[in-house]
Amino acid sequence: MKWKGRRKSGNLEDRRGMSNKGKFAAGGGIIAVVVVLLQMFGGDTGQVLAPILEGVTQSSSQPTEERELTEQEIELGEFMDAVLVDTEDIWSQIFKDNNLGNYKEAGMVLFTDAVRTGCGNASSASGPFYCPTDQKLYMDLSFFDELRTRFGAKGGDFAMAYVTAHEIGHHVQTLLGTSQKVRQMQQQSSAAQANQLSVAQELQADFYAGVWAHHNKEYLEEGDIEEALSAANAVGDDAIQKRTQGSVQPDSFTHGTSEQRMHWFMKGYKTGDIRQGDTFSELLN
Ligand SMILES: [Zn+2]
Repeated sequence: MKWKGRRKSGNLEDRRGMSNKGKFAAGGGIIAVVVVLLQMFGGDTGQVLAPILEGVTQSSSQPTEERELTEQEIELGEFMDAVLVDTEDIWSQIFKDNNLGNYKEAGMVLFTDAVRTGCGNASSASGPFYCPTDQKLYMDLSFFDELRTRFGAKGGDFAMAYVTAHEIGHHVQTLLGTSQKVRQMQQQSSAAQANQLSVAQELQADFYAGVWAHHNKEYLEEGDIEEALSAANAVGDDAIQKRTQGSVQPDSFTHGTSEQRMHWFMKGYKTGDIRQGDTFSELLN
């Protein structure tokens, strides 16, 4: 993706280089809130709970250490800022074109190890996520190495852009009231139905990422869409379950299969039209 020379978003907060290990030793009480409210990029909450607990309850009393960022880290931060700027420009326009009012920009926090959020404390183990309470994306960029090494994706800058655009998709769902509706419906449904609602919501976030990519075409480079698809493929529930437990349980899916994730991203990319993204009717009827 061509990204250099873009304006700064002003919504990026860089907390990398400030180590938070052990800082949240007493924060156990809010863990449940974190699990309910965070909208994570991949994996289900059951799997994520354990690592979060680990991250939050680490009781080492290391003081907060600050270190300088490397040149590579600085550049990575600038790239993330450029992607954020791109989502701001494009979603503002889409909101205008569809008479959805003003697009309210999301914040982005880059962190390492652990972070305090409007949804409670979280650790890197939860992967990139969006907190609807403070309307910010939280990203530990080490996730993108894992995406390649642990999840087997191709990697590349557009994999990062796709993940960011997916989280921004959750922000859009929050602005449009979709997330709140889903939460209400989930409270009145069985576990299996609640999971299905989650799948529809996650696939719609993938669809929105595709819509963003469509409107970002002038900045795309060869191979970008393949990088996004490879990432979407790697984090499908079936792919993750096969890798971690050897078998697949569709009832417990929360994000959709690899094929569904790629399909909805591509549908957004091809149409560029947010009205084509009703994953709820397609999946629940
Ligand atoms: Zn998500």
